[in-house]
Amino acid sequence: MSHALNLKCPHCSVSVMDPYKLINEKQSIRLFIEVAGNKGTIRMSSIYGSYDYETTMDIPEGEIVEFACPSCQKSIYSEKVCDLCNAPLVTLKIEDGGKVRFCSRKGCKNHNISYQDLQSTLNQFYKRHQYGDRV
Ligand SMILES: [Zn+2]
Ligand SMILES: [Zn+2]
Repeated sequence: MSHALNLKCPHCSVSVMDPYKLINEKQSIRLFIEVAGNKGTIRMSSIYGSYDYETTMDIPEGEIVEFACPSCQKSIYSEKVCDLCNAPLVTLKIEDGGKVRFCSRKGCKNHNISYQDLQSTLNQFYKRHQYGDRV
């Protein structure tokens, strides 16, 4: 089972999802990119763990890509760097709380999801759905 994410800009909280362009049959994540002075657009799969994407430009392997929000145009680097390759990590907010981070270097597959308070999120989930005993 693959899980599709619904993501927002961490600055302006506007959705970065593009419902008109599907990748892996789900709405794609649309961001502005800049590589070595060239500007373009990237659309990435919203399925967590999928690396499928389409861009308007070629990105050389190993290149660090600058990502920006299409709405507020602000760069969306996080304060953290990739522990595999030291490139800046890109952070996006998840619609129902938490953050997803991925590495800005082409070819590096480092990515993760973090919730500030995973346990309370889970508790709310189980309460809401009245699952009773957790299995
Ligand atoms: Zn924004
Ligand atoms: Zn990396």
